[in-house]
Amino acid sequence: TQKPLRMPPWLRRPLASDKRFFTTTGLVDDLGLFTVCKAANCPNRQECYSSGTATFLILGETCTRNCRFCNIHPGQTAAPSPDEPERVAKAALALGLKHIVITSVTRDDLEDGGAEHFALTIAAVRSALPKSSIEVLIPDFQGNEAALRTVMTAAPDIINHNVETHPALYSSVRPQARYEQSLELLRRVHAAGRVAKSGLMVGLGETDDQVRQVVDDLHAAGCSIITIGQYLPPSKEHHPLDRYVTPEQFEAYAAYGKSLGVKHVFSGPLVRSSYQAGSFI
Ligand code: SF4
Ligand code: SF4
Repeated sequence: TQKPLRMPPWLRRPLASDKRFFTTTGLVDDLGLFTVCKAANCPNRQECYSSGTATFLILGETCTRNCRFCNIHPGQTAAPSPDEPERVAKAALALGLKHIVITSVTRDDLEDGGAEHFALTIAAVRSALPKSSIEVLIPDFQGNEAALRTVMTAAPDIINHNVETHPALYSSVRPQARYEQSLELLRRVHAAGRVAKSGLMVGLGETDDQVRQVVDDLHAAGCSIITIGQYLPPSKEHHPLDRYVTPEQFEAYAAYGKSLGVKHVFSGPLVRSSYQAGSFI
């Protein structure tokens, strides 16, 4: 067996100590909500919670898919909870968020993949916090164009859909997804005049060339925001870690994306899909 890779110093983060961290955690728990921050064991929780940012996970805490990098468990799903949009709005208001990120597990069991529930949540948050910006991180809806339109009609400020990795790794990393389908979704978002955002993780086994190829594809699909971050396996059962990418290499990816004309490239070891998501709005 391979010796585990040693975590480099640039990935170490201080432990939570800030009061705001615990207030946010408590409030989200009290309202019976889930955050990706907690479910994915995100290393940026201290920073994001302390500044009052959180990514809400709607439509349950179990997923109909089973991606090999993800800490969300596959399993039985329940009908969308009718009061969830209001609960998310209440939490966002209480936390005074300026930029709200809403995402979901993938609900292949629902006719519209949960698109209507997304739209209701966007509307509830918008009415509670009319001045804040809203970003949605959506599943592929299995290519269902009407579902995507339902989300777009609710007019979120940013529509994010992650391709996660190079297509050569899909069968072992994201077996139930299709790269081309994800690119098509992003093209549709861009063609509708909306802000399209996507991202990938590195350290799953891809080469630097393949990272650049994905950046090329995202640029061609019309993405104006791209995130690139270090993959950290949630456990030994997950897809193995292949490498730690250095901060210099992350900068080189960003420089590459910018040279193509991508407006915002967030590329760094601790970058996550929603990390500092509202920092440039
Ligand atoms: Fe949550 Fe995203 Fe921040 Fe991580 S980066 S703590 S998932 S808001
Ligand atoms: Fe996790 Fe999304 Fe894959 Fe479900 S579809 S296992 S939530 S990454």
